[in-house]
Amino acid sequence: MRYIIGIDDHDSYNLGCTTHFSVILLSKLLKNHNAILLDMPYLVRLNPNIPWKTRGNASIRIEIEFNGTKKELADLIFSYSTKYVKEISFALERDRKPGLAIIEYNNYVRSLSKLNSFYLKGVSDVIPLDYAKRFAEKTDIEVRGDRGIIGSIAALGVYGAYTYELITYRKRENWLKKRIIDTESVKRFDEITFPMTFANYDYVKENPFIIPHGSDPILYGVRGTSIEDLLKALHEIKTNEDIDFFAIFKSNQGTSIHFHKTGEFFYQEIKKVIEVRSVEVGKGGDVLIRSTNNDILFVYKETGELNNAAKLLKAGDKILVLGAIKPSTKYEKIIELEQFEIIELNDIEYTNPKCPKCGSSTESLGRNKGFRCKKCRYIIKSSSKVIKRVSRDLSLGVYQTRIYRHLTKPLFLELRYTNKQFEDEIKFLDLFRAELYKINYVL
Ligand SMILES: [Zn+2]
Repeated sequence: MRYIIGIDDHDSYNLGCTTHFSVILLSKLLKNHNAILLDMPYLVRLNPNIPWKTRGNASIRIEIEFNGTKKELADLIFSYSTKYVKEISFALERDRKPGLAIIEYNNYVRSLSKLNSFYLKGVSDVIPLDYAKRFAEKTDIEVRGDRGIIGSIAALGVYGAYTYELITYRKRENWLKKRIIDTESVKRFDEITFPMTFANYDYVKENPFIIPHGSDPILYGVRGTSIEDLLKALHEIKTNEDIDFFAIFKSNQGTSIHFHKTGEFFYQEIKKVIEVRSVEVGKGGDVLIRSTNNDILFVYKETGELNNAAKLLKAGDKILVLGAIKPSTKYEKIIELEQFEIIELNDIEYTNPKCPKCGSSTESLGRNKGFRCKKCRYIIKSSSKVIKRVSRDLSLGVYQTRIYRHLTKPLFLELRYTNKQFEDEIKFLDLFRAELYKINYVL
C-alpha cells in the first residue's frame, strides 16, 4: 500500500529536530520494514507567526510503499517517535507534543482539495487541535500523538511551487560542540552556485547564514532550486567535523506561500494598501509607521534594507504592506512588516513663498495672517503656502528584508519547475536510498 505520512513537533530547543528524526525514521522503515521510498522527503514550514512554534515551525511529509495497514504503520512510526523524543531530543520535557498523520494514497487523491485547504490554513492561520482531530476522522486519516497532529495533517496537503534544502547532520558526540565552518569556503560555494542556491552568506555582517546556533543535530543547511548545485556543498563547504549523514528535502521555503491567504486576525498575514500618516524612528532603530487608517506598523531594525527604506517614507506615501498581525500590550494590535511595495511617493511639499521684492525666504505670521520677508521685512498678504516638488531617495517598487524568514521568497528567486529538476530528483532518490542504508541509529 502507498502511504503519505506527516510528522511534526519532535524538536526541542536544544537537541534533536523533526527533520533529523524523519531521516532516521526513513532509514528504519527501508532497512527494517521493507518500505520503499517513493518521493523525496518534504520540509513543510507552517505559519511563522504562531507564538508557540518551535524554531521555524516545520513539519515533514514522506511518501512510501509499506506492506501493512495504516494502523500498523502508525503504531510502528509512533514507537520510533516515542523513542526519539525520549532518548534523543528530550522533546517532552521541553513541552513539545509530537504527532503524526497517515493517509492512504487513493484517499489522498480523493481528498486532495480538502487537504490543500488544510495546508493553506496551516501556513497562514491558527488551527485548533480539536478541529484537526475532527478533520482527521472525517477524512480517514490515522493520527497518533498530540499537538503535532495539526502540522502533520497540514504537511499531507502541501502543494505549489517548492525549493530544496540540503541538510547535513552532526555525529551525536559533536552536538554540544561549537560548529567550526570555513567561512571562505561558504563564500566560494555561494559564488559558484548563486542564484541556484541562496541565503548562504550574510555579506553585511560577514557571517554564514547556513549554520544554526543551537545544539541541535544540524551542521548546516543550504537552500536552493537545483539539486545538482546543492550537492556541491558536500565537497565545497569545509568543516572541522565529519557529517553523520545528509538529506535533501523538497520545501515550501522561499515560496511566500504564507501570503497566499491573508486576513485581519492575530497571527495571520495581512496584505493591504495604506497611506502613511507619520514615520517615527525609535531609539533602537525600529521604525513605527502610522497609517491614515490608524494602523500601527513596525519595521524592525533587524530587517536591514527594509528598515532603511522605511525611514525614508513620509506622510502621503502609498504602500502595499505585507506582514504579520501581532498582539501588542501598548498598541493592542500591530503589523510587523516583512515587505512593502511603494505604489505612490508623495513628492509634494508645502513651503512659505519667496519674497517678491528681494527673493529671500519668508516666515509665517500665523495661521491665515500671511508671511514676512526675513530680510527686507516685506509682508505678503496671501496666506497660502507654495507647492514645491521634492526629489525622494526612494523609488517605486518592492522593498524586502535581507534576512529572509523561512517562507519568504527572495526577490531574485525564480520558481520554475523544469524537466532537468525532475530528472535530478529521480537521480537523487537513488543516491538518497544509498545514504539511508548507511545510517545506523540505535532506536
Ligand atoms: Zn524681501
